[in-house]
Amino acid sequence: TVKAQGKNGVRASGEALVAESARRSRLARDLPTAITGGQLRLVFQPVAGTAERRVLGVEALVRWDHPELGVVSPEEFIGLAEEDGLIVPLQRWVLEQATTAHARLVACGRDLKLGVNMSVRHLQARCLVADVTRALQRSGLPPRMLMIEVTESVLMDDDERLLAELAELSALGCIVSLDDFGKGWSSLAYLARLPVQVLKMDRGFVSGIETDPRGAALVGSVIDLGRTLGMDVVAEGVETREQAEVLGRLGCRFLQGWLVGRPVAAADLPAVVDGFDPAVLPGPAPVPLAV
Ligand code: C2E
Ligand code: MG
Ligand code: MG
Ligand code: MG
Repeated sequence: TVKAQGKNGVRASGEALVAESARRSRLARDLPTAITGGQLRLVFQPVAGTAERRVLGVEALVRWDHPELGVVSPEEFIGLAEEDGLIVPLQRWVLEQATTAHARLVACGRDLKLGVNMSVRHLQARCLVADVTRALQRSGLPPRMLMIEVTESVLMDDDERLLAELAELSALGCIVSLDDFGKGWSSLAYLARLPVQVLKMDRGFVSGIETDPRGAALVGSVIDLGRTLGMDVVAEGVETREQAEVLGRLGCRFLQGWLVGRPVAAADLPAVVDGFDPAVLPGPAPVPLAV
């Protein structure tokens, strides 16, 4: 009966909750070893330009190969690292690895930008600028090739010093982007004051645009907003040609997602970048009307 199913449902979800919290504690306990014990690894996902018709950059994404639990997603462990004060050492590792691997790629003649995700906690810890500077020096990567991605949570924190740190990154010559834009509630007034050059539109905006005219209209206004503020807009999570076509019509010039490429190991990047097929991209974006 429905009632019995309901009861089972409740019990099952109770068990699921217990299992979930056991997994969390396990991951939290094992995380320090992951960082020091070589269990973290980076993969890189391409970003393409519709005007340039090639891969313009890659984003570094961290993975944890847990010896017993298998691959653990950053969505699961970044939060734990933030809670346990491990985020700064974790981010240092990511920065060092990503810039070193990328400098090698650049030395092999690929003109690509590198995106690295950063936690707001790292900004709050006041050592992000120093850590970025050190990683750039050690790797020899030119600052203009490094894009630091921060999420909307910087918008929630009305600490002026965070904005100053972001401005310092720009002053170093790095690009700063606002990641997952539109996923939470951003204050638009605050956005205008943020020292960021790139808006990465959350994939929630992109999914369904090929069939939903209102969704497409919304994406169009985000792209216009970016243009008004002088920011480049990257669409995240582009999976199909149809989505890319709509984005192209709306004037979006930068696409990231499975259509452009899945994240791959650094060793496989040259083949992915050189073998990229521009036919998956929409035609060049229409020239915006002069206002
Ligand atoms: P993000 O920065 O927004 O990264 C994009 C996420 O979307 C990645 O998930 C990527 O694999 C996934 N993705 C890309 N294209 C597609 C697509 O076409 N369809 C779908 N369904 N998904 C797509 P991933 O690698 O699991 O990372 C999740 C989040 O974890 C990232 O979101 C980022 O916020 C965070 N993260 C990853 N690496 C790091 C890191 O080194 N440091 C910090 N602080 N956060 C990280
Ligand atoms: Mg990102
Ligand atoms: Mg994102
Ligand atoms: Mg995202």
